[in-house]
Amino acid sequence: MIKNILFLIALLINSPVNALELKGNLIQGGMVIGQLPKAKLVYLNGQKLKLGNSGLFVFGFGRDAKLDHVLSWKDNTGTHHTKPFLITKRDYKIDKIEGIAKKYVSPPKSVLKRTKAEAKAVREARNKLSDRVDFLEPVYRPAQGRISGVYGSQRYFNGTPKRPHFGLDIANKTGTQIFSPLPGKVIFSNPDLYYSGGTLIIDHGYGITSTYIHLSKVTAKLGQEIKTGDKIAKIGATGRVTGPHLDWRLNWKQVRLDPELVMQRIPASNFTNK
Ligand SMILES: [Zn+2]
Repeated sequence: MIKNILFLIALLINSPVNALELKGNLIQGGMVIGQLPKAKLVYLNGQKLKLGNSGLFVFGFGRDAKLDHVLSWKDNTGTHHTKPFLITKRDYKIDKIEGIAKKYVSPPKSVLKRTKAEAKAVREARNKLSDRVDFLEPVYRPAQGRISGVYGSQRYFNGTPKRPHFGLDIANKTGTQIFSPLPGKVIFSNPDLYYSGGTLIIDHGYGITSTYIHLSKVTAKLGQEIKTGDKIAKIGATGRVTGPHLDWRLNWKQVRLDPELVMQRIPASNFTNK
């Protein structure tokens, strides 16, 4: 298993004012936090990144992201810089899951409108690029239980190949408390989505969001400010599941990241004060 591979790259290019610092996981599924104090514009593979006053930016790589990337930026003198870099490839496991209710394996046409609208609402929530910088905080384990599913695994439902799994699954009894693994603000809350059941999305800034699905109960309210260790929801078996578990996701905008790469082993419940 790959866990918390930490890369720290400090490069001096031309002059100290253009020192590039990248922290995080340069790997498929990884989140990377960067800083370029004097940058005016920063691009990843030609795509403009949200840039903070102090030159802060963040990006991430999907499950099947290509391995060669280019970071480029324009500094405050108008000079352009480019820095090509490579990320590490991963191998994913195969998951054969039986006993999924037929209506979820091949959903009836009648629910298509509903699932499309729900997917759109989730997509829109994840597109927001707020100024919050909660993603700089450590990330702790949101719930107790057995890790029953990992990021990236290729899934077969009742023998039919399906989309890969993108979350970290923590299996435990319905009603098990979920604690916020890092600070943020609730930007989406719904007790009943077709596939994901009780669903909660927390914004951590710059396009980084975390998502909690199959919940039996969502206690955090839309718009609520969350601290590390706050009680946010309870584990359930709602939506497309075979048993009660938390499916925990991490996103950079629409790019699905691996929450396990950033998760520390300490439970978030250690920080609760209620
Ligand atoms: Zn899952």
